[in-house]
Amino acid sequence: MYFKTIDFSKFSSIRVGTPIEVLMLERGDKIPNDRVIIGHANNLLVSPTPPPLMMLSKDYSFIDLEEDVLTVGCATPTGKLLSFTKKNDLAGFEFVSKLPGSIGGMLAMNAGVKSYEIFNIVDAIKIDGKWIDKREIEHGYRFAKLNGVATEARFRVKRGFSKELLDELLNLRSNQPKTPSAGSAFKNPEGDYAGRLIEAVGLKGVSKGDMQWSEVHANFLVNHGKGTFEEAKQLIDLAKERVLEQFGIELKEEVQIL
Ligand SMILES: Cc1cc2nc3c(=O)[nH]c(=O)nc-3n(C[C@H](O)[C@H](O)[C@H](O)COP(=O)(O)OP(=O)(O)OC[C@H]3O[C@@H](n4cnc5c(N)ncnc54)[C@H](O)[C@@H]3O)c2cc1C
Repeated sequence: MYFKTIDFSKFSSIRVGTPIEVLMLERGDKIPNDRVIIGHANNLLVSPTPPPLMMLSKDYSFIDLEEDVLTVGCATPTGKLLSFTKKNDLAGFEFVSKLPGSIGGMLAMNAGVKSYEIFNIVDAIKIDGKWIDKREIEHGYRFAKLNGVATEARFRVKRGFSKELLDELLNLRSNQPKTPSAGSAFKNPEGDYAGRLIEAVGLKGVSKGDMQWSEVHANFLVNHGKGTFEEAKQLIDLAKERVLEQFGIELKEEVQIL
């Protein structure tokens, strides 16, 4: 293991943060239990004083296919997995084309698009060195209780990469802003949409400094340049406060605040 200084104002998809020392885990290292694991920071808002952080090194970026069993290291970028499944004509992974990040981050968030989610296709996850069947892991809409560091995931695969499904997903009418963000800021409450609620309480387009509730999609907190953690947090708290006050609904963050 070794330390690496990561500047979250460049590394995170929302471009917010400061340089922080992160412990990089290599193969064979004992996994510490006093640090928070991060992936590729596409769903993170990192404060200037986060808890101690760790990350999987490139050792955990690999893909092995043996007959119908695909084993993927959790530092593998989703783009690499998509290319591999396309090249090897494997079905079921087309939706990862819409999800920036690592396989570890996808598993922890049970990331997905429409009805496609990673827990629909994963079989088992190696967590803190032990393979665990997915049926033993509590999971649901945008969460999975991994209770540890996922280092590898196993999928039973079928042939038949669908170019049609890929194109359909890529061509979904995208109402997502192109400005840096961490994806959806809040989970959709049951039977409603966080974006609709944020808009209804008058926050669509509202800014603090360079951070803004996007004019394109109100559930995206976007950074127009030099946005800070404090500004982002103020907008998040304001949305939660107003939605609770006006609708009695408690919005829950999808973005992970560290
Ligand atoms: C423009 C944009 C669009 C997006 N659209 C979608 C979408 O449509 N659907 C969707 O579901 N998501 C979406 N996201 C969010 C993001 O793509 C996913 O959450 C992704 O899975 C995050 O992966 P990551 O590696 O960046 O994880 P990070 O953001 O680094 O971490 C996310 C969480 O995973 C945990 N984690 C990371 N690695 C591990 C590990 N190895 N073991 C255990 N826990 C781990 C972290 O502790 C953290 O809680 C979007 C993001 C962006 C920027």
